[in-house]
Amino acid sequence: MKKTLYLKFILAYFIFGVFSFIIVSVFVPNMTKEHLVREKAEALYSEATLISNTYATGLYTSETDLETVKTQLDFLAVYLDSTIRIINPSGRLVLDTNVPLNVEEVVMIENFDPTATAGSYYMVNDFFGSFDSEMLSVFAPITSNYMVKGYVVIHCDMNDIQASCNSMLNISYITMVILLLLSLIILIFFTEMVYIPLRKITYATEQYAAGNMHYEFQVESDDEIGYLAVCLNYMASQIASAEDDQKKFVANVSHDFRSPLTSIRGYLEAMIDGTIPPEQHEKYLGIVLNETERLTNLTNSLLTLNNLNTKGMMLNRTDFNINQIIRNTAASFEGTCRKKTIAIELVLTGDEMYVNADKDRIQQVLYNLIDNAIKFSHHDSVIRVETSLKKNKLFVSVKDTGIGIPKEDLKLIWDRFYKSDLSRGKDKKGTGLGLSIVKEIINCHNEHINVISTEGVGSEFIFSLPLSAKNDEED
Ligand code: ADP
Repeated sequence: MKKTLYLKFILAYFIFGVFSFIIVSVFVPNMTKEHLVREKAEALYSEATLISNTYATGLYTSETDLETVKTQLDFLAVYLDSTIRIINPSGRLVLDTNVPLNVEEVVMIENFDPTATAGSYYMVNDFFGSFDSEMLSVFAPITSNYMVKGYVVIHCDMNDIQASCNSMLNISYITMVILLLLSLIILIFFTEMVYIPLRKITYATEQYAAGNMHYEFQVESDDEIGYLAVCLNYMASQIASAEDDQKKFVANVSHDFRSPLTSIRGYLEAMIDGTIPPEQHEKYLGIVLNETERLTNLTNSLLTLNNLNTKGMMLNRTDFNINQIIRNTAASFEGTCRKKTIAIELVLTGDEMYVNADKDRIQQVLYNLIDNAIKFSHHDSVIRVETSLKKNKLFVSVKDTGIGIPKEDLKLIWDRFYKSDLSRGKDKKGTGLGLSIVKEIINCHNEHINVISTEGVGSEFIFSLPLSAKNDEED
């Protein structure tokens, strides 16, 4: 079976419980018993010393008779719930509160040795075999004229001490059980705050792994787990929208490839089966050539976009004269401009203006923008390419007085494959990829591009470029 976090936690809880129980049942009884014995011994020792200093000394100095002492000690023994004895150093039992007084009978405690306590004032045993069960025996010597005359020994039954020890232990066990039950609260917290949210997150990741990127889930907490859930949700929604974009992209590419291919095929079939007579072949082959040119454009643009995406920030930055690049690019459109009698006016800041960027890519940006400006301009118009300096940046503007872009299309023109309805008539070869490439290149440079356009009046595209330090050297 799969070991879940929950099972592990419960296992840890039980191990904790068992260990606590073992520790409490092994160490605590010994410690409690030792403590109770020491406490009792201390109490009895002060009693024994008191007896030795008062009644017992009187006994040896013959100030008090044995009978009186016995009566008094009997009372005291009842009060202390113990047995009091007076023993001679030889081991002869002088007095025992458990036994009636009999002067004739000599009772000896075999092997009596007061030094057997090994430095302590009490011992726990059967007191040299004189008791059947274990007793706590406390010694106090009876001295007279600096001589030990005997000992006052108080015996207390260990069973009594064990009984009070047991009742104390019961309290410890009950406390431990209560603590264990209280620590169940941790288990409940863990279930609510970690286990259930983790289950939700695991289920969600399983859904995502199975491809259900639109699966949504909620974890009601604002801690790390809640944050993880929000991040996961966000990641899934991003992947889902990337997937949607991908699908749209493939659909657009297929569509844009299919239409020229269909028309090429149509014309060629018509030529082969004679629908188009041979004298018109040249005209239709021209159309076919145009269509293949469109396909080449489309493939090139797709490759450029793909390179930009995969290479990301891999730009070949150099310091170059942007004025020169603008002049060269504008010159490359000379033929097209002549056909439409369009003039390109260049208003450039300085003779030379150095920027730090990827020269080839910026040339492509200029090419795409001027190409669009020409495509969407009317005959006999002027396109103006202007540069200006502002806040350590160079701004390049490509402005035309063409058809303009409808307001609602302004945001969409940067999307891949977007062509506005207005433009379709003017530009049959357009792929709708030119501006996406432009935007991608400018973004890679961490710069900005903007468009200002009014339908029927014209459009202006402005982008920024970082100036090169070379300009200062030139000065
Ligand atoms: P295309 O290669 O088809 O021109 P672009 O991405 O370059 O694709 O442009 C997308 C759309 O933006 C064009 O189809 C057109 O509708 C609009 N557009 C771009 N430049 C201009 C412009 N200078 N004047 C008017 N419309 C433009």
